[in-house]
Amino acid sequence: MKYKRILLKLSGESLQGDKSAGIDAKPLQQYAQEIKKAVEAGVQVAVVIGGGNIFRGAQAIGTAIDRVQGDYMGMLATVINSMALQSALEHIGVFTRLMSGIKMEQVCEPFIKRRAVRHLEKGRVVIFGAGIGSPYFTTDSAASLRAIEIEADVVLKGTRVDGVYTADPEKDINAERFTNISFEEVYSMGLNVMDMTAFTLCKENDLPIIVFDMNAEGNLLKIVKGEEVGTLISMS
Ligand code: UDP
Repeated sequence: MKYKRILLKLSGESLQGDKSAGIDAKPLQQYAQEIKKAVEAGVQVAVVIGGGNIFRGAQAIGTAIDRVQGDYMGMLATVINSMALQSALEHIGVFTRLMSGIKMEQVCEPFIKRRAVRHLEKGRVVIFGAGIGSPYFTTDSAASLRAIEIEADVVLKGTRVDGVYTADPEKDINAERFTNISFEEVYSMGLNVMDMTAFTLCKENDLPIIVFDMNAEGNLLKIVKGEEVGTLISMS
């Protein structure tokens, strides 16, 4: 295996499938199956899942809910998604632990680095809910931070598109996909991979990112085996 310990970031929106919001069983089961394949191959898997299918803090601006309150609501939304993924994984026989950035004793453990690493070493999938537990951050930042803390080999950002392009491939037919690109090039070309806080955290800690299509069956396993899938962002 090329990667022994990975941090998989999934967006909340991807869980809604064909629905306009909420959680759909189909993507949930599909992601659980993909994760299971990686676990069975001996890879240690940690997951951060977003909350955009339920609530985003920024959408609260201008409404009755202020930003900080909205961000906490967004963090709680990620816990709901994390619980859904946890269930889907357990249904197919994958051992899991859910750790939260906000204390929630009845449903998850608090995030403690050493404990998280121990779970991973025992082959459990560790899901990190509630982001980093602070407003004004995103789940991408949580993914970068947790990946660094648990000393993951790579952040795998699962998306609907199969990598980083010169322009938005859904809008520009001439857009070309990068196979490899450096952190510096992403900055200088103004490409949108993650928010800058999350991205810089990876760069400063020499943590590579792979952007890939999580909906294509078998992609996750291919990546951990070292096959070239999606776009690899690294120092060189
Ligand atoms: N959030 C936060 N701090 C964190 C992580 C998340 O405040 O550490 C809030 C923020 O409001 C964000 C929402 O949770 O908009 C949902 O997360 P995100 O938008 O990153 O989810 P995704 O777009 O990946 O579904």
